[in-house]
Amino acid sequence: MENIAFKFTEFERGTVWVVGAGPGDPGLLSLLALHGIQNADVIVYDALVGEGILSFARQDTEIEFAGKRGGRPSINQQDISDRLVVLARENKKVLRLKGGDPFVFGRGAEECLRLAQERIPFRIVPGITAAVGGLAYAGIPMTTRGTNSAVTFITGHNANGTVPEDIDWKALANGSPALIFFMGMSHIGRIAKELRGAGRPASEPVAIICNATTSYQKVLVSTLERCQQEVAASGLVPPALIVVGKIVNFREQLDWLILE
Ligand code: SAH
Repeated sequence: MENIAFKFTEFERGTVWVVGAGPGDPGLLSLLALHGIQNADVIVYDALVGEGILSFARQDTEIEFAGKRGGRPSINQQDISDRLVVLARENKKVLRLKGGDPFVFGRGAEECLRLAQERIPFRIVPGITAAVGGLAYAGIPMTTRGTNSAVTFITGHNANGTVPEDIDWKALANGSPALIFFMGMSHIGRIAKELRGAGRPASEPVAIICNATTSYQKVLVSTLERCQQEVAASGLVPPALIVVGKIVNFREQLDWLILE
């Protein structure tokens, strides 16, 4: 068979690439993300972009931080979108680098909508979301034939920093054997209470995966009944995922990660 050389999509001036950086481990970047990072004139990055990823950028690439710290509602999202517009209009190759995947609880859509309105060409480079990367690095399969035919990603946190009011806990409890909460650490007590109130057993396994795929990764295995107390006692802090369901039990056999 003829070996046809692969050519990356060209990063055009005056365009914005909205790129998922994956959950942390630089090895989980896609080739297209890496190509973008190596060719960008300016990179506007978020707090959750993994350590080391920016080191792939050229020395002359401008690096701007647009992060949001802690649970506070962001530094103005509008400001970030404005900035992307300004940089693109300066005819730069603008790379917007976001943790995980830009379209999974990442507000990537808002930024792209703005670019679309301004008629600035953009491209989305998907990333490995923390849910996919985090579960893999914790040895927890997202699905198995014996445990769940559905899995749900939920945000534990809305724009005001509280648990979203529109979560249908009964539907979640009945309909999805595996639940993965993003941004839920500070509300873990409420989440566990709602799920138990909606019929999930107190003994149901829960895993809290912190700093997934980084050298600081920590995993706490608990139950719906004990998780609030055990998280408080552990001193674990975000970023973290909360995984609820029987899939957590597989970690006992599938935990493969050896941290240096
Ligand atoms: N777009 C991102 C999610 C952004 S919301 C993605 O696809 O992964 C931020 C939340 O993602 C955090 O509060 C946490 O719940 C989760 N998260 C992101 N990176 C993480 C990591 N390395 N370890 C654990 N959770 C992480």
